[in-house]
Amino acid sequence: MDTKKFETNAIRNQLGRTQYLEHSAPMFLTSSYVFEDAEDMRASFAEEKDRNVYSRYSNPNTSEFIEKVCLMEAAEAGFAFSSGMAAVFSTFAALLESGDHILSARSVFGSTHSLYTNFFPKWNIETTFFGVDEVEKVAQLVRPNTKILYAESPTNPGVDVLDLEFLGKLAKEHNLIFVVDNCFASPYLQQPIKFGAHLVIHSGTKLMDGQGRVLAGITVGQADLIDKIYRFSRITGPSLSPFNAWVLSKSLETLAVRVDRHCANALTLAEFLESHEKVNWVKYPFLKSHPQYELAKKQMKAGGCVLAFEIKGGLEAGRKFFDSIQLLSLSANLGDARSIVTHPASTTHSKLTPEERKSVGISEGMVRVSAGLEHIDDIIADIEQALNNA
Ligand SMILES: *Cc1c(COP(=O)(O)O)cnc(C)c1O
Repeated sequence: MDTKKFETNAIRNQLGRTQYLEHSAPMFLTSSYVFEDAEDMRASFAEEKDRNVYSRYSNPNTSEFIEKVCLMEAAEAGFAFSSGMAAVFSTFAALLESGDHILSARSVFGSTHSLYTNFFPKWNIETTFFGVDEVEKVAQLVRPNTKILYAESPTNPGVDVLDLEFLGKLAKEHNLIFVVDNCFASPYLQQPIKFGAHLVIHSGTKLMDGQGRVLAGITVGQADLIDKIYRFSRITGPSLSPFNAWVLSKSLETLAVRVDRHCANALTLAEFLESHEKVNWVKYPFLKSHPQYELAKKQMKAGGCVLAFEIKGGLEAGRKFFDSIQLLSLSANLGDARSIVTHPASTTHSKLTPEERKSVGISEGMVRVSAGLEHIDDIIADIEQALNNA
């Protein structure tokens, strides 16, 4: 059991030094590895040796990245992917059989939702959804063929908080594999395995990278499940590139200090918006007004970088607000050093009907903000002048 603190592991857990005694871990941009002799080659392919064979299977840089995330999430093992969606898809595809059933929160990342509705049915995999306010009733939705229970918390873009401990117990009772997409919290704010998750998924593209440079994903958790995911993925090829793994592993060294500042900026901005006359409501897990404030306090260290609010005046006021933004970026990303504002109703969730949007907590005038690392005074000043123009 490693007893060092989160920040120390994030920095000090790195690859062994090469003969050049470098201080910072180097990049291993190699697709394959060499063998000593015929016996070494045979034994390596027979998996009698724990060593690198081919970078679709493993690479020193991806191994370092995986090890860091495993320490952060208290996970036994992991596999790293070329994007968050590669992690999501490969996790499902490795564990599910035709005829299996998924029980999932309705408020999940848009592309994950599309997997459920547009692709899994053709492999005879059905999904049942539950709302953020229906968590207590989830047990009634379990079927004999239910295999995976899937949730995100906080949710996107509604910033609702789901009771992970409750869902973890339920999964144990019904023998389900509990999978949590922990991207919005990052491993620094929340470790779902402590609440009973068997697997934790991250899009490394967001807070882990933190500067909007690379796409990446990772699944960590119970070793026997990760082995299945590894065996599927080393054949199908969604592996993370060593370059991106190197970037991410460096980024994790600063995850704690960055996320602390993201959270402080987001909370200050949320408090400012709550007192603004042009704002109907603000939602942020660590605002006392958040419906699941106590739960958020229990399972998270701080509220995260994302908050949502509604401008008075609906769609038209929203358009004026976005057209008046000067400093912040209009973009769909989040968890970036640059603060970002998004309009879910006209962008990420535009394909849903207004009723469907309502069911996942999105109103027409709703704005999602990812608070970045600029000075909070400048973030607030830009949002304030845009609100005054709206
Ligand atoms: C972005 C995101 C994903 C997908 O990650 P990509 O790296 O863009 O493929 C999955 N889940 C959540 C919650 C996300 O925010």
